[in-house]
Parts: sequence; structure tokens; C-alpha cells
Amino acid sequence: MGKENGSSRPLEGEQLLLGVMGDPIRQSKSPVMHNAAMQEFGLAGSYVPLHVKGENLEAAVEGIRALGFRGVNVTVPHKVNVMACLDAIDADAKAVGAVNTIVNDGGFLTGYNTDGIGYIRSLKEEAVPDLSGSRVLVLGAGGAARGIVHALLKEKPAEVIIANRTLENAHKLAQEWAGLGKITACGTDSESLRVSAAKADIIINTTSVGMFPDSGASPLDASLIPEGIVVSDLIYNPLKTRLLQEAEARNCRIHGGLGMFVYQGAYAFEFWTGRQAPAETMRQAVLAAFGV
Ligand code: NAP
Repeated sequence: MGKENGSSRPLEGEQLLLGVMGDPIRQSKSPVMHNAAMQEFGLAGSYVPLHVKGENLEAAVEGIRALGFRGVNVTVPHKVNVMACLDAIDADAKAVGAVNTIVNDGGFLTGYNTDGIGYIRSLKEEAVPDLSGSRVLVLGAGGAARGIVHALLKEKPAEVIIANRTLENAHKLAQEWAGLGKITACGTDSESLRVSAAKADIIINTTSVGMFPDSGASPLDASLIPEGIVVSDLIYNPLKTRLLQEAEARNCRIHGGLGMFVYQGAYAFEFWTGRQAPAETMRQAVLAAFGV
């Protein structure tokens, strides 16, 4: 890789080595998505799936340096543990508490989290150009919710309500980021959801409820979805969850999880290559891999 330019960014004619580390990894659509982006720019090299068990994570990260990878994505279950293996962590990734993208600058490894910012870029480009002043109900308080809520609060919404099955987890999140905006917590009993949903402009599902193969499930009773608001679901398998189908039937604008996946990859691609990612090509590559 091109050490002469002070980084591992490949010089002309060199191979760009990228990959994704996870366990399992066979199901990942990241290789097909990033290889399509590289092909679009005529970049030589490859983005490969890397099956890494937990006990080998540190050695695998060391291997990024040894093999001259420009960077990797990190997925389940390594997003938290990988942080201890890096030289530096971006401030937002540190606040979220997880890393999904590593950039190798001449052997110096920096961790970023592009999940939350990828989601917000997708939501703004595909559904709500301006999030400021909006009232947002977030269903779930897990890892994905952390990234999304942190990025969302930077958009200056009027209020964010976190509704979670385990109320304590919602409270923890609301307390942790109370200084970043108006953020409150509630449970998922029908009365709490009714009150919170009724005042929402946007509802975002960050739980796994409704994901394949449990596609018949929904995290919110259809009768509680206000007419004409925006409803978003992080799940992209299926592309249109039951929640989104029911929201559409109530004249809502719907936003699925594919855009988040594409844009978290787009940000990573931009960090590695310094070029604006071809998001539409990446989206089409993932859709084709799904057989759509
Ligand atoms: P996670 O950390 O395990 O959190 C799961 C969340 O869902 C928790 O808040 C949990 O509540 C809640 N939950 C799980 N099962 C539930 C049920 N039966 N009823 C009610 N609540 C339930 O998972 P995650 O990493 O945040 O991922 C969540 C979803 O986001 C997954 O479907 C994943 O595929 C999707 N995702 C999509 C993208 C994308 O690129 N589109 C990226 C990341 C994640 P408790 O606190 O009560 O357990």
C-alpha cells in the first residue's frame, strides 16, 4: 500500500484491500455492495468476507496492518470488543460504544461508527429532509438504537421518546444523553405506546421484531400508528416489514432499513477511498443479491 503518501490509501495501480469481519459472515451483503462500488470507479482490489471467531479478533485486527488492508467493516458480534484493539476511536463511535468501520492509515488503526450517521443520511434523503423540530418515537434501546439516537439528537429534534420492552434500558439511554436534547423513556405497554405514538411525527423501529423469519410480527399495534406520519424500520429482511405495510395502509410515508445498510457502507467507502460513494449502484447490488 502507498506508504509514500503517509497513509495506506493505495497509490495508482495498487490493490485496494477491504473486508468485513464477523461471526457468522456468509450472509453478509457487504462484499457484493462494496465490490460493485469499487468496480464503478475501476479500482483494482477486493472487499472480502472474513470469518473471525471472538478468540481470534485481536490477531485478525493485527492482520489488517500486516496484510496492508486499507480498512474493514466490523459486524456482529465484534462491534464492541474490537474497540480495545485499535489505536484511536472517533469521538462519536466512543459515545455510541461501538465500532463498525476501521481505517488503516499507514498502520495506525482508527475506529468509526457509520451505522447511526448512515441511517440519518438515508432517512433525510429518502423520507424527511429536515428533522429539526420533529417528535420521534424510537422503539427499542439496543445497539442499533444507540447509534441512531446519538446521530438523531444532532439534528435538533423537538423530542425523542425511547420505548423499550425492558424499561430500565430505555431510561439508561435517556439519562446518558439527557445533555444532548429532550429525550425521555417509556415502556411498551399499550397505554404508554398509545400516548407516545399519538404525538409522534416519526416512528422508528430499532427492535428485531418483524425480522425474517418472524415476518408476521410487528412491534406496534396498527391501530396506534397515527395517519400520515413517517414510519421507519431498520429491518431490511423483509424489505417491507409488517409494520411498514400497516403504516402504508394508514397513509404514512414509509422508510425501510436497506438505506441504512447502504449508507453505513457509503460512509465507510468514503473514509477508505476519499471518493463520494456510488450509493445507487451499491443499493442495486444489494437488491440484486436479494433477488429483487
Ligand atoms: P440488540 O442490541 O439485540 O437490541 C434489540 C432491541 O430489540 C432491544 O431494545 C430489545 O429490547 C428489543 N427486542 C428484542 N426482541 C424483542 C421483542 N420480542 N419484543 C420487544 N422488544 C424486543 O439488537 P440491535 O443490534 O440493536 O439490532 C436491532 C435490529 O436492527 C435488528 O433487527 C437488526 O437487523 C437491525 N439493524 C439493521 C441495520 C441496517 O443496516 N439496516 C443495522 C443494524 C441493525 P430489550 O432491551 O427489552 O431486550
